[in-house]
Amino acid sequence: MIELRDVTRSFPGPPEVQALKAVNLTIRRGDYLSIVGPSGSGKSTMLNILGLLDRPTVGEYRIDGVLTGGLDEDARAGVRAQRIGFVFQSFHLMPRRTVFENVLMPMAYSGVPRTERVDRARRTLERVGLGHRLDFLPTTLSGGERQRVAVARAVVSRPSIVLADEPTGNLDQTTSSEVMSLFDDLRDDGLTLVVITHDPEVARRAERVVRITDGRLEEQR
Ligand code: ATP
Ligand code: MG
Repeated sequence: MIELRDVTRSFPGPPEVQALKAVNLTIRRGDYLSIVGPSGSGKSTMLNILGLLDRPTVGEYRIDGVLTGGLDEDARAGVRAQRIGFVFQSFHLMPRRTVFENVLMPMAYSGVPRTERVDRARRTLERVGLGHRLDFLPTTLSGGERQRVAVARAVVSRPSIVLADEPTGNLDQTTSSEVMSLFDDLRDDGLTLVVITHDPEVARRAERVVRITDGRLEEQR
């Protein structure tokens, strides 16, 4: 369970920007939540906080009862590696590493033995339909294929929460549908999924939709 209590995030100015204003949100295990709202409204700021890449200026963030404000950077990195997977719009793949190496990477410090890491990376890539692209470089893939690598990389360490920022933003309709059905599969596996989107079809598939407008959050559906 994820809980934001009165979370405000200010960026010092001048002029100071309050990207989030007293946001309250509870996300239960296995929820599929979509975040919508205009550009600059605070969506990525919220995802960064949920992913422990940023901290609230004011307020509390708890994961499974643990108050994250009390954790030092090492402990936060540990929670991130164990529990959280990210999918970014711009993929953030390592350009000089193969598809396979990109997906192997997040497990580097997981304590999982090498043979199992290799096996898991291969199986995860097969599952996203890229079993035939293991030794390719990301630059030689299509946008949809790269996005599927990004999804494979996000889930290979078996996180309990996957956070995605505009995961279909650069994709055509067919490839967006592929990514959406991957998300449906993840949800069926019991993962908690939080997806920022401008795409009404992605929002329609979520169980719950919240809207952020000028840093304030309201439940929409
Ligand atoms: P988009 O849909 O365009 O991605 P968003 O809803 O994700 O927009 P955020 O990136 O969360 O918007 O930004 C919210 C506000 O906070 C914006 O006004 C932005 O300029 C400001 N902001 C975000 N990050 C910083 C930062 N590091 N320093 C200063 N201001 C920031
Ligand atoms: Mg954003």
